[in-house]
Amino acid sequence: EAKAAGGGQVCLFTPEMSARLLRCHQLEQEFQNALHKREVLLFFQPLYDCGGLQLRGFEALARWQHPIRGLIGPDEFIPLAEAGGMINALGDYVLEEACRAALTWPNDLRVAVNLSPIQLKDPALPERVHAALVRSGLAPCRLELELTEGAMLEQTGQVQAALAALKTLGVGLAIDDFGTGYSSLSYLHRFSFERLKIDKSFTREIAASQDAQIVTRAIIGLGAALGMAVLAEGVETEAQLNILRKAGCGQVQGFLLGRPMPEADVGPLLARVACTGGRAVPA
Ligand code: C2E
Ligand code: MG
Ligand code: MG
Ligand code: MG
Repeated sequence: EAKAAGGGQVCLFTPEMSARLLRCHQLEQEFQNALHKREVLLFFQPLYDCGGLQLRGFEALARWQHPIRGLIGPDEFIPLAEAGGMINALGDYVLEEACRAALTWPNDLRVAVNLSPIQLKDPALPERVHAALVRSGLAPCRLELELTEGAMLEQTGQVQAALAALKTLGVGLAIDDFGTGYSSLSYLHRFSFERLKIDKSFTREIAASQDAQIVTRAIIGLGAALGMAVLAEGVETEAQLNILRKAGCGQVQGFLLGRPMPEADVGPLLARVACTGGRAVPA
C-alpha cells in the first residue's frame, strides 16, 4: 500500500489517510457507472458585467449526485475521471448538457464550459465540441471553453492545432485561474484567447492586500493591452466588487452575485433578471 501511494517512499499510514485512500478508491470504482446512471449533473453560476451588473451568461460546473454520499464536487471527481480514462466521456456529456441548457436562455447569454488538459490533448476534441454544438443546435459563439494555464504548458503541435481548430469552429476561448500557473505568457496572444479569468485567490485578497490589488490591476492592464476581456472569479464582498470596478475589470463571478445553482433555478433567475432589464438581483 505504502509503495503504491508513495512511490518508494517510506510512509506511515494514519487511520485518516487509509480512510481517505479507501474513499478515493471506492469513488473511482463508482464513478465508472456514474455517467450511465445519470448521476452527473450541471450547476450554473451567473456571470455579470462589473459596472452595471448586467447578466452575460453562466459557467457550467459539474456535480456528482452520489446516491449515498450526496453531492460531490468536481475537485474530487474530475481527477478520478482523468485517472480512470473517463474524462472524455464526461467532457462530451458536460458539453452537450451545457449547450442544451444554454439553448433555453435568451440568446445573448453565453455558457462557459471547463476543459481538462487531457481533453485538450485528444485529437478528436474539436470534433467532439462540434458534435455537441450540432446535436444541441447552439450557435458556436455562445459557447466559451475554459482552459487553465497548465493545459497550455505543453505547447505541442497537437495542442496548437486543437486551439486553432476550436477557433475555426467559432467558439470562444478563456484562460481560467489566471495567475496561478507557471506557463509563459506568449500563448495568450498567439492563440487569441478572448478572456482572462483572474483566479479567486487574487480576488480574495484585494480588499486587504495592496500587493494583490497591484497584481490584479496589472492583469487587467495586460488583458486590455492584448485586447482580451477580463473576468474576476470569487467575488464575495461589495468591497471587492468596488475595487474591481475602479480597476476597470470587465466582468465578475462570485457568491456575492450568485452561487452555482441547479438548472431548475436558472429559469426563475432569468425571469427575475428580465424584470430589471437584465441587471443582477440580490440573491
Ligand atoms: P473553476 O472553473 O475555476 O470554477 C470556479 C470555482 O469557484 C467553482 O468551484 C465555483 O463554485 C467556485 N466559486 C465561484 N464563486 C466563488 C466565490 O465567490 N468564492 C469561492 N470561494 N468559490 C467560488 P467548483 O464548482 O467546486 O469547481 C471547481 C473546479 O472544478 C472548477 O474551477 C473547474 O476547474 C473544475 N470543473 C468544474 N466543472 C468541470 C467540468 O465539467 N469539467 C472539468 N474538466 N472541470 C470542471
Ligand atoms: Mg472555470
Ligand atoms: Mg477558475
Ligand atoms: Mg479552478
